[in-house]
Amino acid sequence: MVQIRMRKLFFIYIVISTVSFIWFYSSCGFPECKEKEIEHLIKKYKARNKELDKKISDLSQQLQECQKNVLTSGRTEFSHSPTIYMVTPTHTHPEQKANLVRLSHTLLHVKNIHWIVIEDSVSKTVLVSKFLQNSGVKNTHLAALTPHEIKMKYNDPTWLKPKGVLQRNAALRWIRENLNPNTDNGVVYFADDDNTYSLEIFQEMRNTKKATVWPVGLVGGLRYEKPIVKDGKVTGWFTYWKPNRPFPMDMAGFAVNVNLFFNNPDARFSNEVPRGFLESTILEQLNVKMEDLEPRAENCSKVLVWHTRTEKTKLKNEQLMIKRQGQGSDPNIEV
Ligand code: UDP
Ligand code: MN
Repeated sequence: MVQIRMRKLFFIYIVISTVSFIWFYSSCGFPECKEKEIEHLIKKYKARNKELDKKISDLSQQLQECQKNVLTSGRTEFSHSPTIYMVTPTHTHPEQKANLVRLSHTLLHVKNIHWIVIEDSVSKTVLVSKFLQNSGVKNTHLAALTPHEIKMKYNDPTWLKPKGVLQRNAALRWIRENLNPNTDNGVVYFADDDNTYSLEIFQEMRNTKKATVWPVGLVGGLRYEKPIVKDGKVTGWFTYWKPNRPFPMDMAGFAVNVNLFFNNPDARFSNEVPRGFLESTILEQLNVKMEDLEPRAENCSKVLVWHTRTEKTKLKNEQLMIKRQGQGSDPNIEV
């Protein structure tokens, strides 16, 4: 009995195993088929991978393009917006490059700006040439030397002589010779290299019919100097020093339409004018009247530019270093 049962069990076992075996291979396929399917899948995913790699490379190229555009947006020309021709005299001294770097970083944020940089030197220096080439700001580089008799010495008091006169005139000459009064629509701003300019000030001056004006901070021995505005018109000046000048304001406090330089072809700066009269004489020569002034910066109630000055660095240890160890700092390292 037991033997017959065992046989039955064994038979059932064999039948179940065979059926399972057949079922397994019929549902999953035979090994060769499986391999083929896997190979096919690998091929498919490899192709997909290739596609994705190409997509990634295309997108990173696009990203690079976008980053480049952001960096050079200061150089982009927009036909409908007037160009700001920013005229900056600069001279060789220990803090020059630091001033220029700081200023260029402001200008990189400004659209449609053309920076005219004029060196107070016989010819363009390597330092400024290299700096401008790599600045990312659209620029014109000029040089005009201040004659020895007029030139400031490093330790002269700052008010002693006019500064930047021949340099600004060189820029005016460039403007008159290179711009077309019929097609080049723009604004001229005389912006020294050590001041601090907010981005808003460029928006304020962009649309200047004749002459725009605004307050300047930290100047003339006051927290600010500014035009006084009544009913949207300039009626006078908040200035302590020489308030009777025709336009008692700092160079950083106004901008003029470039047409004025074409309409008044002889207008230029002069080293002969009394102290503090550079601004007044150029505006008078441009035939600007008090009633022409267009107040900006919320009717001259906001300070958007500061007459900051860079402290002269004491370099006395250079000499002491030479005494102590035979040589000072390496002149080949640009500062
Ligand atoms: N400047 C110049 N040559 C000089 C001294 C100054 O070209 O010998 C430039 C200077 O780089 C600046 C402008 O003239 O852009 C006005 O000079 P500074 O800022 O020293 O004048 P201040 O701050 O006293 O008004
Ligand atoms: Mn200055």
